[in-house]
Amino acid sequence: MSRIILEARDIRYRYPRGREAISGISFHIRRGEKIALVGPNGAGKSTLLQMFNGMIRPDTGIMLFDNKVIRYDTASLRQLRKRVGFVLQNPDRQIIAPTVYQDVAFGPVNLGYDEPAVRESVAVALRQVGLEGFERRPPHQLSGGEKKRVSIAGVLAMDPDVLVFDEPTSGLDPSGSEDLMELLDELNHDGKTIVISTHDVELAYPWAERAILLMDGQIIREDVPDVAFGNTKYVRMAHLSVPTLLELSAELGKRGFTIPERKPRSVLDMVHIIENHLSKPYAHPAPGTITVCNVDEGETLSLTTWVKARPGIAVGAMGTRAKQCAAQEQIALEFTYGVIDKCILRALRGHDSVILTTGSMVSRVAVRVEAYCKESGNTIRVASLTIRDRSG
Ligand code: ADP
Repeated sequence: MSRIILEARDIRYRYPRGREAISGISFHIRRGEKIALVGPNGAGKSTLLQMFNGMIRPDTGIMLFDNKVIRYDTASLRQLRKRVGFVLQNPDRQIIAPTVYQDVAFGPVNLGYDEPAVRESVAVALRQVGLEGFERRPPHQLSGGEKKRVSIAGVLAMDPDVLVFDEPTSGLDPSGSEDLMELLDELNHDGKTIVISTHDVELAYPWAERAILLMDGQIIREDVPDVAFGNTKYVRMAHLSVPTLLELSAELGKRGFTIPERKPRSVLDMVHIIENHLSKPYAHPAPGTITVCNVDEGETLSLTTWVKARPGIAVGAMGTRAKQCAAQEQIALEFTYGVIDKCILRALRGHDSVILTTGSMVSRVAVRVEAYCKESGNTIRVASLTIRDRSG
């Protein structure tokens, strides 16, 4: 198990002239985890998150970062904020400079980086959020989703270990929200610890590795999402609702379906449960193939030709750069979120698909498909699109 990176020990906090917002909370977060802090408005999520990087100091109790008690002198806070980046709910409150470049450079400049290091940090951060070429743009002219990405880049430019997001999808449309959650996954895959606050259970349930249910400044339940969200009593106490997939699986369980210990977290998992139960199993056609294409490798221009030569193939893109590549090549994307599972579902119906992606995400496809096949007894072939194939 990885090391604890953030810890709270019996913390309490009351706003001046306000009521107690945090009423005796203890928890820990491990390096590399994806944590969702879930609760209704006013539960204390935002207040708690602000303690992670020292913006709010508990009245009593202590906060620890990397096993050291957080100190609140200017030098210590400066050091802490380099390690724990905070993305505010409203990007307009986070973006301060007249151009995207200047805004993203703000942190590195403040940390005293020299000019080439600042330029490099900004370039890397903008690349991570898919905003290369936006350097000279005035932030106020950007869309809500783009502004959000600028504010994230500003935090990423300091290369923190932990990224804290207060209501990350607030103000974004459904597709913008999906893109953003995928960006969080990408950042987590690159090794960042991610903590989000949300009141959206449908968003938190499939995403988080651990959910902390918060209500009236106290933790009601802290567990893996299917346990945390599966108990109606706790969910009601926290003024939340049971995620649809969990509700459905509970219903099916009552009707004699076998529900695996690891509850369904996707439509694919749910289909598997249902199919297992059918007395006459669904006669699958020969499964389709899933081809994985690393868009960072080789000559991408031939990708369009490759796709065109396969009418009926569905294209999915995982990750910001893969989506940009598809846009540049005018390749229509069928799947942009939950891509691997959607391609597995498609393969089970006998159809082929190709997943565009990059770097370490490439191996994720094979791992997920293999795990699914092992569990379900199906055989789905994962092919990789090599540079030679792509020129043909
Ligand atoms: P959440 O993020 O879950 O919506 P908050 O942390 O914003 O909850 O708020 C927790 C409690 O603290 C609420 O009762 C809220 O009214 C109160 N509160 C938040 N900010 C302030 C403030 N600046 N001054 C006084 N009370 C506040």
